[in-house]
Amino acid sequence: MIQNYSQTKSSEIDKKVENLLSKMTLSEKVGQMTQITLQAVSKTEGKVDQKYEVDPEKLREAITKYHIGSILNVYNSALTLDEWHQLITQIQDLATKETRIGIPVLYGIDAIHGANFTREATLFPQNIAMAATRNPDLVKKSADITAYEMRASGIAWNFNPVLDVGRNPLWPRIYETFGEDTYLVSTMGEAYVKGLSGENNQIVATDKVAGCVKHYLGYSFPLSGKDRTPAWIPERMLRDYFLPPFQKAIEAGIHTVMVNSSEINGIPVHSDRYLLTDVLRQELGFKGFVVSDWEDVKNLYNRDRVASSPKEAVYMAVMAGIDMSMVPDDFSFYNYLIELVKEGKISESRIDESVRRILQVKLALNLFDNPYPNLQMKDKVGSPKFAQVSLQAAREALTLLKNDNGLLPLDKNQKILVTGPNANLRSVLNGGWTYTWQGNEESLYPKTQETILSALQAKLGTANVTYIEETHEFDQAVNIDQAVAAANNVDVAIIVLGEATYTETPGNIHDLALPRAQLQLAAAIEKTGIPVVLVLVEGRPRIITPIVDDAQAILMSYLPGVSGGEAIAEVLLGDYNPSGKLPITYPRHPNDLVPYDYKLIEVDDPNKLDPLFTFGSGLSYTTFDYSNLKLNQNQIHPGEFITIKVTVTNTGNRIGKEIVELYLSDLYRTVSPPVKQLKRFQGVILQPGESKTVEFNLNQDDFAFRDRNNQLTVEPGEFKVAIGDLSDKFELLP
Ligand code: BGC
Repeated sequence: MIQNYSQTKSSEIDKKVENLLSKMTLSEKVGQMTQITLQAVSKTEGKVDQKYEVDPEKLREAITKYHIGSILNVYNSALTLDEWHQLITQIQDLATKETRIGIPVLYGIDAIHGANFTREATLFPQNIAMAATRNPDLVKKSADITAYEMRASGIAWNFNPVLDVGRNPLWPRIYETFGEDTYLVSTMGEAYVKGLSGENNQIVATDKVAGCVKHYLGYSFPLSGKDRTPAWIPERMLRDYFLPPFQKAIEAGIHTVMVNSSEINGIPVHSDRYLLTDVLRQELGFKGFVVSDWEDVKNLYNRDRVASSPKEAVYMAVMAGIDMSMVPDDFSFYNYLIELVKEGKISESRIDESVRRILQVKLALNLFDNPYPNLQMKDKVGSPKFAQVSLQAAREALTLLKNDNGLLPLDKNQKILVTGPNANLRSVLNGGWTYTWQGNEESLYPKTQETILSALQAKLGTANVTYIEETHEFDQAVNIDQAVAAANNVDVAIIVLGEATYTETPGNIHDLALPRAQLQLAAAIEKTGIPVVLVLVEGRPRIITPIVDDAQAILMSYLPGVSGGEAIAEVLLGDYNPSGKLPITYPRHPNDLVPYDYKLIEVDDPNKLDPLFTFGSGLSYTTFDYSNLKLNQNQIHPGEFITIKVTVTNTGNRIGKEIVELYLSDLYRTVSPPVKQLKRFQGVILQPGESKTVEFNLNQDDFAFRDRNNQLTVEPGEFKVAIGDLSDKFELLP
């Protein structure tokens, strides 16, 4: 069921929209469809440490002459709450008091893991780590806090959640996704949307914001693995794997959609009327507005060459279904679009359609009555209560991939060596979209944030921790000899490896392997024979195969956010028992990137399934046993659902959380089935010796797939349900 923005007031909103529209000139309407970046109305291109300085004349011109509807981004780096308040007030004063109609500006920001462009805000683990928690409640809480802290900054529109399904591990934005599985992405995405916009989608509330699902559609599956390069995705795959998370978010009432910057099957998505209008609006019933990605209307001419002039690019994008263009540096979109209407090439009713959608969101947010930041909300921003949610998310994300002979947790009296390029940096725990676009300005990170090293030192005392600093170049290890020498004097070595910060094209790589220098460092320490723990701090699964066998323990931390250092120290020392599960397959070989839901033909002789760690991997310091898998019926009729129960027992000697995952296999069908698919999951906390029964229901939607004509269908036949090491079959009757 598609929800209206503000259910109680939707008819009232419609009336107000029509009233506004009837008063607006063509230029005022087209202005609403124009979005520019803050830099376009600022004085100079500055350095990172230089504060933004708005150019009052440029801002006035943008708002009063070009009637722009939206501004985005930061000048270069995150602003303080006070700076945001000043900026938003200045913008809204102009928009509401110095224009004829007084339409407030909708400010948009990429609050990807918390309100990461507000200096005082709470930072969460990145989405890939949130997916490892398998805890939608935590995702919802993090989005709820993000919304609060955005509104406290005066910003009402978030370009998140990213609902791209991360099925190419090379892609530099994998960490912004909830992993490789469509159901997991859909579930976490829905939770995020509800946190951001409220359970009943009442963004009229002063602590809720409008979300933006992105990047519609197929952005995450470039053939080369490099950002903004072509994808070739057949219709069936597009619909089975990439569309469902967007559909779920639309059902949850998402207000805006951002478009894939690249192309699918040779068609730049910004020019694809089929996807932007036929599928998105007619099939999925999306009622909000569609915003382009950065410069992507221009790119139809400049880069993609499907339009033969910049003006034709505007025509194509608008006729395909774009409502707002993230231009973002000038007013070319505005000028061309007015010309196109005056020349009769685009009708004014097409313009009205877009403006209606944009005004509806502004009204649903109550921006007309209350465009200004709420000063009273400031105090709670970055509060200890919010930080606690971030810490809990980091804890639940950490995924223990190997623990030979129970090396972990470490004995707190042991002497440890800590080394590796990611051991003593704050930025790398957070990744891109932190204070700056690339997140790499170490100096901007609060000194109160623990690094992995400082958190270990705080718990063990500096005397027990030897630190050998490595270069922060990530691909040049300079201190291998020193690290090896130090390893001979300690009981265990913790080697913290991984990636520098990045997002988008600067994060493109040519090789999924972890840089050679890091592999050499680990191999040299492993050769000494002392026990080694590898801690991975990385946004995508970089290949570590050469150093795995000789490491006794491996802890995957993804990009665990501001509390990552503390959470990692807790897990290494046994103060917290890990429960995270991999949201993406960890490959063993660079050219063997087979996701967990592969087809049987992919592993037929001479191929074999050979990932380093499968999707769903994750150990605990205790052990769990599954028993009594029971289906309420072994034959079900069309339209019925099936109930599956299983008992989980903690058979070890410490409290632990187990994520129970249910996989379904359609054994025979007319389109070759994936070997299995994740359909449900639930976390259970168990005391030693304690058992709990977990219950899941599967319904007809769970059995559906696209048939040979790409129609959604359910075919009778045999299905297999698997939970843990147990499985059973049932028959779906005709
Ligand atoms: C990214 C989007 C982002 C936008 C605005 C683009 O380059 O692809 O994800 O929302 O910039 O910052």
